[in-house]
Amino acid sequence: MNLASIPRHALPELLCRMPKAELHIHIEGSLEPELIFSLAERNRLQLPYPTIEALRAAYAFTDLQSFLDIYYAGASVLQTEEDFFDMAWAYLLRAKADNVVHAEIFFDPQTHTARGIPFVTIINGLDRAIQQARKELGISAALILCFLRHLTEDDAFTVLEEALPFRDKFIGIGLDSGEKGNPPEKFSKVFARCRELELRLVAHAGEEGTAEYIWHALDLLQAERIDHGVHCLDDPQLVTRLVQQQIPLTVCPLSNVKLCVFPTLAAHNIARLLACGIRATINSDDPAYFGGYLNQNYLETFVALPELGAAEAYRLARNSFEASFVDVEVKAGWISQLDAFFQQQHA
Ligand SMILES: [Zn+2]
Repeated sequence: MNLASIPRHALPELLCRMPKAELHIHIEGSLEPELIFSLAERNRLQLPYPTIEALRAAYAFTDLQSFLDIYYAGASVLQTEEDFFDMAWAYLLRAKADNVVHAEIFFDPQTHTARGIPFVTIINGLDRAIQQARKELGISAALILCFLRHLTEDDAFTVLEEALPFRDKFIGIGLDSGEKGNPPEKFSKVFARCRELELRLVAHAGEEGTAEYIWHALDLLQAERIDHGVHCLDDPQLVTRLVQQQIPLTVCPLSNVKLCVFPTLAAHNIARLLACGIRATINSDDPAYFGGYLNQNYLETFVALPELGAAEAYRLARNSFEASFVDVEVKAGWISQLDAFFQQQHA
């Protein structure tokens, strides 16, 4: 394919229409203010914000922690299985509109079990939305259970025990929440247990944390994929390893700017990550809070970084499939769909 012949003005439509996977989306981070208000009303809860506009105005974060404070407040409206279903269904509809064919979705059970919501309520609501999306929207999706790293490893073991009766409803384990002061090694025992259980393993590392956190996520947790990982470029030896082993990074450009990991999108290192040969992908992280779903992340990033063209669009979409946790045959099917899509563009 001669992707260089695709003109720059064709990029926005290409980015929106190309088939792609999303591998870094926290389902609680897809809760739009409108849905937060309607769930609060349905559950007769009082929110600390008088209006939808006031809640949206509070989304002016300065760092990861200031975001997490609002994120946990928003999640508190989720009470019933129906609420979890509604949240996941709303995301899956948005994903479909962005031509996402596969999503690996994070959920944070401890945010809810700590409020007395049973694990079964959470997982059944999310799973039902995924099953319905498969049938009605033709989207494939799977769940990854994340441990909150600001809590203890014992807490992680507790939620893992609660989750095991539902082992068929999630494919893997992740690690999220405040990175600073909560290094990967804090969770090495529980990740070892998850590995014995043959769960797929990912971890947030190198977002606010240093390149050392990425080394430790790889060596001490044996994470197969690194969420964010943008600080890897500080360490040439780490870059060599990521390239040699083709360890995927799930990069979230709009999130990184909103949380001040980079001052602007133009300063983002995604183009350099790709140029080094790192298997980087683009994702939305917490789209309701960070200013956009998946296509918006692609569109704004490509506008801000003129070195990104059709070849990089193809590479990013292909990486998203290569980095997903599905069977090789399924991956190959999506990649041929992607190839056919790009062939048509300059036919
Ligand atoms: Zn994240």
